Amino acid sequence: MIAVLKHGTTPSQMNHLIDWLKRMNLEVHVSQGQEITILGLIGDTSRVDMELLSSLEIVETVKRVSEPFKQANRKFHPKDTVIEVGGVKIGGGHFAMIAGPCSVETEEQIIGVAKAVKASGAHILRGGAFKPRTSPYAFQGLKGEGIELLLKAKKETGLPVVTEIMNINDLHLFNDIDIIQVGARNMQNFDLLRELGKTRKPILVKRGLANTLQELLMSVEYVMSKGNENVLLCERGIRTFEPATRNTLDLSAVSVLHELSHLPVVVDPSHATGKVNLVPPMAMAATAAGADGLMIEVHNDPAHALCDGAQSLTPQQFDDLAKRVAKVREAIL
Ligand code: PEP
Ligand code: MN
Repeated sequence: MIAVLKHGTTPSQMNHLIDWLKRMNLEVHVSQGQEITILGLIGDTSRVDMELLSSLEIVETVKRVSEPFKQANRKFHPKDTVIEVGGVKIGGGHFAMIAGPCSVETEEQIIGVAKAVKASGAHILRGGAFKPRTSPYAFQGLKGEGIELLLKAKKETGLPVVTEIMNINDLHLFNDIDIIQVGARNMQNFDLLRELGKTRKPILVKRGLANTLQELLMSVEYVMSKGNENVLLCERGIRTFEPATRNTLDLSAVSVLHELSHLPVVVDPSHATGKVNLVPPMAMAATAAGADGLMIEVHNDPAHALCDGAQSLTPQQFDDLAKRVAKVREAIL
């Protein structure tokens, strides 16, 4: 971290600041020029409050030269992380198709969809049991019963499963769940992230509706700093001024995240677009951009889905998409 001091700072003011910084276990390197003085802060600057430092009367600007996320940082871990669940690998060249309904609704629905997506080559089954809905009057998910039905589908098909947790008090229900999802709305629920960091389950963290990629990486740092290195990142679109799509899919996030981090990056074109006709092109674009996996909503009867029918592919549409995604994968290898 670099702090540029204002012109006219007295030696005693500067020494006062240096003493304060040294008390934070930082080494301070001083470069004194004719006009300006630059302090180079060396050590663990992740605990330095940049805003506080910038607000000091003698400080002109503060700039970070290293990222505040450490465990997720590729600089300290150059090799791609590969997450393995039930024989399925994601990351480091391994690509996974995650598919299933927005919500688990009935036994017939989840088992039917699970069998269909498996036959089309999906590797992991998704299905929400705890649903973070904008309206308290909308279907909130089958909760514990939904988890049980999802596990039945896992048993029937052998597919590993991913589902969202909203409250840490429900963690005991997730013992046989393969990947725990933290949804966009909980990306900055730091208590939840910390608790999930104490488990050793793979955690898929979705980018918040209005969060930067650095904020996403700082969120997964909460999980990793507690000792759980099994983390997947998920880009699912962000809120912009564009109303034509539910969110705006930030595809450059795939490359940026790969550059900054060693963690696998999954793209969810369903929540990103909100429209069934936009899901296949964005899924293929994400694959071409180098995503390590896709998360696609599939429903046996989208018109009657209890949640997100408008963005859900039918099993037949998913089958077509899976074939096209496989061709894109071949083309970019
Ligand atoms: C979901 O995947 O079911 C979901 C609610 O997605 P998001 O958190 O990205 O909105
Ligand atoms: Mn959904």
